[in-house]
Amino acid sequence: MYKEILNYQEKEREMIKIEKELGASSERQRLLRAKKFLNDFDKIESMNTRAQNLTIEFNKINGKIADLAKQLSEYDNMSGSSNGADEQNYFIKKVSQLDEKITSAEVDLAQVTTDINEHVKYFEDYKKKVKMAKDEFGEYKNKYDELKQSRQPEITDIQNLLSEIEGKIESDLFVRYKNIRSKKIFPALVPLSGENCGHCRMELAMNRISEIKDKKIIECEDCGRLIYIQE
Ligand SMILES: [Zn+2]
Repeated sequence: MYKEILNYQEKEREMIKIEKELGASSERQRLLRAKKFLNDFDKIESMNTRAQNLTIEFNKINGKIADLAKQLSEYDNMSGSSNGADEQNYFIKKVSQLDEKITSAEVDLAQVTTDINEHVKYFEDYKKKVKMAKDEFGEYKNKYDELKQSRQPEITDIQNLLSEIEGKIESDLFVRYKNIRSKKIFPALVPLSGENCGHCRMELAMNRISEIKDKKIIECEDCGRLIYIQE
């Protein structure tokens, strides 16, 4: 009763082998690599955030320098019209403090400018890499399509055989088999090995041994596969 379904499973095995070979092919791997690079939205997001932060920082320091320069020119004006040595000394001290602050802010600004230039360069490099990845994606998409095309006759043959065999399998059994396969489990049908499941090795209880002898096929309580007894 399970001869046809075993036959079906063997054809599925051939199909899975082809799918695995296609999946593991260098064409597919290169295609996935390019796709992963192009879909790295976190990286793009982090580059944008960095650019925004650098701009904010640049504007902040520029504003600070403008403020300090304004204060400096005010003190300069006042010091010209001041009376007395104490007042003069006070202005000189203030002017020199402001000078120091401006110098320090200019150092910060130079650093941010360097960071911005580096980021621009990084971004330019990234754009080149994106272009390369796009080219690679196009190239390997074609190559992968060609590879799939070259295997298509085998795939079609197997598909035809699968439909042919399917017609000979008892429908209840086929539904059970398909249900297991829908969970990506393969093989779905395994032989009884001694008193154990042929896949997960779980030992069957006495009543289940009787059941399998009677029904020929039972479901493994552990791995969910169908266990058959060889007639
Ligand atoms: Zn099992």
